[in-house]
Amino acid sequence: MVFLFSRDNQCIFRHLSKVANDVIENIRSILTSYTSGWKTSPGIKKSHPAVVALKGVEKWFSIHPRINASKGLKVEASCGHGNWTKIPWIAVFDLRISRGAREGAYPVMLFRADMSGFYLSLSIATDVPYGSPTKSRIAALKGQVASVSSEFDNLRLNGFSHDPTLDLRVRKGPGVGYMHGSVIHKFYDAQALSLSTLSDDLTALLMAYDASISSGTIYAAFQNQNFRLKGPSIKSEEEQKRLNEELRAVSRISDKKLIGRILKNATLPQRRPVETTVYIRSAEVIEYVRRHARGICGLCGLPAPFLDEEGKPFLEVHHVQWLARGGMDTPFNAVALCPNCHRRMHVLDKPDEVTKLRQKAYALLDLL
Ligand SMILES: [Zn+2]
Ligand SMILES: [Zn+2]
Repeated sequence: MVFLFSRDNQCIFRHLSKVANDVIENIRSILTSYTSGWKTSPGIKKSHPAVVALKGVEKWFSIHPRINASKGLKVEASCGHGNWTKIPWIAVFDLRISRGAREGAYPVMLFRADMSGFYLSLSIATDVPYGSPTKSRIAALKGQVASVSSEFDNLRLNGFSHDPTLDLRVRKGPGVGYMHGSVIHKFYDAQALSLSTLSDDLTALLMAYDASISSGTIYAAFQNQNFRLKGPSIKSEEEQKRLNEELRAVSRISDKKLIGRILKNATLPQRRPVETTVYIRSAEVIEYVRRHARGICGLCGLPAPFLDEEGKPFLEVHHVQWLARGGMDTPFNAVALCPNCHRRMHVLDKPDEVTKLRQKAYALLDLL
């Protein structure tokens, strides 16, 4: 969403900040009033304060910048179907792997049955919405959790953890599935709630979720299920070609038109799985070529532009005859180049410069 500062948008902005300010109050209201709901009548009443508050928190999720900016996410809150569930939840489904609570994996806010607090969790669906999962399903869940767990390690920085087990204070029912299906989670105490912490944690969780889908790790956990990225995979060279053609097409349009199009399409970039060929390169070759370059670029003859984290001159090892063109991965086909010259060789590919680099690479033979 793009905010221009018209009066209308200021109005929208005020509305958004009210939803944000109310969220902590709404969470407190769920924690204090929820159990009175299912204790007084088994059927859900839409006017019950806990239901109203849950809707308010759902609204806050849906206007969260990270969710609002992305077209492929769906927010859903539930306190049960007809009858109250012990564990109300609000989930964010990335439609690439999850269309609802029974499918795939998703970030979810899970309230404890005793309303002593709630969790943010990255959870794998149990596909058992009402009853307890079977022993074999629990075992399968644990396997799926273990296979994707490391993908979410970064969330530890925000205080998320794999241990101890998520404790929803239930012994049976769907909550048991949630307890075993949590990949990583963080508990929030009813007494100490901070809007900025919650918002930052949600952002981090959504980013990790998105990254795990884009990298494909999370698909591997569902090999027996039919989750696929939308659209066929593309080759990275094809995407580069498409971009180059489009760049040529937009190079003649005015600034005004360009800005107009940018604002119209302002969103997170679409992600597609990409097929690419990776050459398994020898570390020894890279080390040998860098060592003998002594910090000097093989093309322009200038020192490396900066030192790397280890304090060594930063030079890239380039194959004179490209690996993609059948070149050998040996020091006699490789030179160390500064990043500018490296790009230059790949963009311009000038025969006289190729010859110069080839002579440089051959010179290494004399050292033997
Ligand atoms: Zn250079
Ligand atoms: Zn190269």
